[in-house]
Amino acid sequence: MSDRAGQSHRRFRAYTNRDLDKIPQLSRLSADHRRSLKAVAAVLPFRVNNYVLDELIDWDRVPDDPMFQLTIPQPGMLAPDELARMRALVEAGERAAIVAAARELQRQLNPHPAGQLKLNVPSLDGARVKGVQHKYRETALFFPTPGQTCHSYCTYCFRWAQFVGVDELKFAAREADTLVRYLQRHPEVTDVLFTGGDPMVMRTRVLRRYVEPLLDAELPGLTSIRFGTKAPAYWPQRFTTDDDADDLMRLLELVQRRGKHVSVMAHFSHPRELEPAIARSAIRRLQGAGALVRCQAPLIRRVNDDAETWSRMWHTQVSLGAVPYYMFIARDTGPKEYFKVPLHRAYRIFRDAHASLSGLARTARGPSMSTTPGKIVIDGAAELAGEPVFALRFLQARRAAWTGRPFYAKLDERAAWFDELRPAFGEPAFFFEAELASMQRSA
Ligand SMILES: *Cc1c(COP(=O)(O)O)cnc(C)c1O
Ligand code: SF4
Repeated sequence: MSDRAGQSHRRFRAYTNRDLDKIPQLSRLSADHRRSLKAVAAVLPFRVNNYVLDELIDWDRVPDDPMFQLTIPQPGMLAPDELARMRALVEAGERAAIVAAARELQRQLNPHPAGQLKLNVPSLDGARVKGVQHKYRETALFFPTPGQTCHSYCTYCFRWAQFVGVDELKFAAREADTLVRYLQRHPEVTDVLFTGGDPMVMRTRVLRRYVEPLLDAELPGLTSIRFGTKAPAYWPQRFTTDDDADDLMRLLELVQRRGKHVSVMAHFSHPRELEPAIARSAIRRLQGAGALVRCQAPLIRRVNDDAETWSRMWHTQVSLGAVPYYMFIARDTGPKEYFKVPLHRAYRIFRDAHASLSGLARTARGPSMSTTPGKIVIDGAAELAGEPVFALRFLQARRAAWTGRPFYAKLDERAAWFDELRPAFGEPAFFFEAELASMQRSA
């Protein structure tokens, strides 16, 4: 299947909810299923490309196929009454009514979890720096405007609010200039992480306009430039056969000649994404250009919620010289009910997958929740002083001093996000809560 992928998928073709009917494989679904799919796609962002459709989804295993669940809207992503209402509206075909109902549902789906809009946007000379988020001391996230989309969308994506045309929700940057000025004032930043969307949807000449000024600024504190991307999974051609793929390799090499490390934070959700020869070539080429490929993904019910899948995925990554990095808990946003995995189960999946492999694959950390106070990892489920607890720890914290300090929550088998947890041992609050509240008041 893989060589075919290299040759017949040189040209990118994406489908959105406007041309659902043109996706040949969807004719295999029942008419009823297609109607539901259209109703969901009217509310939640949908975009899929020819490579995902032809090479990654196993159509013989639909609807349970994990790649189908990951990329194609599912009826269960809306509550039954919402689904029925949207189906009726879509069938009636009145645009204004569809859009109004969709907006209303979108607003109910917690589009801005973890205080992203207010707390993380930094300021410079009294003005907010658009397109930059700076939450953890060492690392600044950068959202270049043309990188706020993806080659294909994940059904569970927490960044979905950016894709539905609600302008004030965009964290996009206009100028690399602003980023440089910000970094000049913040020598504590060692890492700039290009993210999105997917910065690798940008053509190389566009990306170059962001990267070169960073290098030219000769920021002494900057050690690493990272690119968060799903392109090695959804469009590996970006790194192999696209006409500016070679240019991209030259750009990555340039970063390193200027003394900075390049990490490609590759989002791989399922081992199948690593099977096509072209995906493996993409990883090899990135490595050949000196980049370190580190892999991360959220744990998603129906996509990758078993230890065997993670074990196989991490094993394959290590065999390709890539480094397992993070397992995330999916955020409490969007169609979370459909995809959520309780924390206790997530912890067991992580532990079992971790335990099944050698030390080289145990570089992954998790399961981790990106919450308002920081990235919280579940280190264990145990009984302490007669009480069943989760042992928790900040991998990253909004206040650097919180990092690494163990703390405990009552074990709750059903909890699926941090805000459902309560402190153990009868304590009234977690150790950081008072300080966090005062930070929020002064934001
Ligand atoms: C995860 C994350 C980072 C990077 O954290 P590392 O542990 O250094 O990979 C930076 N900023 C934000 C907001 C994050 O969520
Ligand atoms: S690739 Fe990342 S940003 Fe894009 S849809 Fe998937 S999870 Fe969201």
